[in-house]
Amino acid sequence: MATRRTTTKPPAPAPAPVEPAPCQPCGGTGNVAITVRVGRKRRSVGQQDGLCLNCLGEGTDPGLDA
Ligand SMILES: [Zn+2]
Repeated sequence: MATRRTTTKPPAPAPAPVEPAPCQPCGGTGNVAITVRVGRKRRSVGQQDGLCLNCLGEGTDPGLDA
């Protein structure tokens, strides 16, 4: 069986796309659900959206970019 050889160059490695990793705690949304507690017993009355303190609302993991 004849194997046809091509003289084309091997494809150059594509540059890795610089894609910021999504923030872990908020999942890339920049918001996290915060449980609202009231009273001395700290009864939970619900949740509200809060700013993610890990990415400060950016939605991306701040670990790479300084
Ligand atoms: Zn975040």
